[in-house]
Amino acid sequence: MTDVLIIGAGVVGGLLARELSLYELSVALVEKEDDVAMGATRANSAIVHAGFDAKEGSLKALLNVKGSEMMEQTAKELGVPYKRNGSIVVGFSEEDRAHLEELLARGVKNGVKGLAILDREELLKVEPGIGDTVTCALYAPTGAIVCPYDLAISAIGCAMDNGAELYVDFPVERIEAIDGGYRVYSGERVLEARTVINCAGVYADKIAAMVGDESFTVFARRGEYMLLDKECGGVCRTTVFRTPTKMGKGILVSPTVDGNLLLGPTAENIDDKGDTKTTPAGLASVARSANEQVKGIPGGKSITSFAGLRAVGSTGDFIINSPRAGFYNVAGIESPGLSASPAIATYVADMLRRDGVTLTPKAGATRVRESMHAFRHMTVEQKNEVIRRDPSYAKIVCRCEGVTEGEILAAIRTNPRPRDLDGVKRRTRAQMGRCQGGFCSPTVVELLAREMGVPFEAVTKSGGGSYINVGRTKGADAQ
Ligand SMILES: Cc1cc2nc3c(=O)[nH]c(=O)nc-3n(C[C@H](O)[C@H](O)[C@H](O)COP(=O)(O)OP(=O)(O)OC[C@H]3O[C@@H](n4cnc5c(N)ncnc54)[C@H](O)[C@@H]3O)c2cc1C
Repeated sequence: MTDVLIIGAGVVGGLLARELSLYELSVALVEKEDDVAMGATRANSAIVHAGFDAKEGSLKALLNVKGSEMMEQTAKELGVPYKRNGSIVVGFSEEDRAHLEELLARGVKNGVKGLAILDREELLKVEPGIGDTVTCALYAPTGAIVCPYDLAISAIGCAMDNGAELYVDFPVERIEAIDGGYRVYSGERVLEARTVINCAGVYADKIAAMVGDESFTVFARRGEYMLLDKECGGVCRTTVFRTPTKMGKGILVSPTVDGNLLLGPTAENIDDKGDTKTTPAGLASVARSANEQVKGIPGGKSITSFAGLRAVGSTGDFIINSPRAGFYNVAGIESPGLSASPAIATYVADMLRRDGVTLTPKAGATRVRESMHAFRHMTVEQKNEVIRRDPSYAKIVCRCEGVTEGEILAAIRTNPRPRDLDGVKRRTRAQMGRCQGGFCSPTVVELLAREMGVPFEAVTKSGGGSYINVGRTKGADAQ
């Protein structure tokens, strides 16, 4: 019987798995998709919020501020890009200014440092690109950006290095209470665990209901985005929000840690918890709002669009509780869930400790993981040394992002292993540039097929039936 089984391999389940893998515990992480970081963690704004939004006294506020303080160190340990670029919430009217004053007061109560209201003149020094009709802003110098899926992938890899086991393609369908724990079913596959932790994102209410806990529901609120070419990454330095509404923090304009420009998200409550399509109306509203906040956004430089689903819980706060012995909910983790994720991990570990789970530090376990992006940041001399040892690092596969064959092979061979094109993309950035894989995806398919020992027709874009090739058109085995 496993000591702890975590359901859901997003950033929350992933960082929790890493935290628990530091102790003398057997840890299993199960995920319904064919890869990790496939839920909200894959598609969000990537902002480490300073912590002025959440209502004072709430778990969201507590864990946001703590998580934001922990994030830089966490990202460093896991070799994940992080940048403290600061954030601003812009206002266009006296009414907005009053709202910003409220956010400032709330932020001060939450313990956020360095907050200030800026007039237009002061604001221009912080963010020269702000829109012509912006009159004031709340400035949060501790706001930051990070790569969310990198964080989850690296945390899960770290947990696996420490001995945790990952089961993908494991949609939990039933949970049965047994003597001393739970039996967790996915089709024919069954795992037993003393403790089960529900980190299943938008489906967390369904998992809780499997043990008879119907005390909350979770619904999906879709957010659509546009991602602009790296050429546009310098349009603004800070993350530029507008004054929030009851539907959320509104549309933002932000550089990403990789140098692109991100616009979005919309906020639309939807019934289908799997519906991540983008819509012309949604993207048009993103462009409209973004252009009011920041000047000179070259809309024609959009290279892709995508949508993510916020897991909005019925209580209005994060739902972190234990409705029955040995079963824990970590549910309703909508924004600022990414920012809070390192703090959620330690908070839940403390809950387990309080409930009698023995947490003895494991000899040799580590919080640290080598960066997957090290090659990109090396000096020419260092790169030459790597290429001398492994010539596959001399072959550029993705021209847009400058990703080498050596990096792709290393990603395919490293836990948690990618099994499709999008998995390689999230780990290496190959196919993430201007041409969106038009040039490099055939080579990535060949590398995946070779490494996995499958025919190239069997490689998918993103698991399931997302096949991309039906047969060869050239070469000896062409049909
Ligand atoms: C549009 C949008 C913008 C956001 N912006 C920000 C931001 O800027 N800053 C911030 O701090 N937060 C932000 N968030 C919130 C943040 O993305 C989430 O809080 C965070 O990613 C939640 O992580 P998670 O691991 O709980 O959930 P997820 O990443 O959704 O992971 C849950 C996992 O559980 C799996 N799962 C579900 N059901 C089952 C099952 N039956 N069996 C097995 N596995 C299952 C899913 O496949 C999924 O992989 C945003 C969210 C969205 C959608």
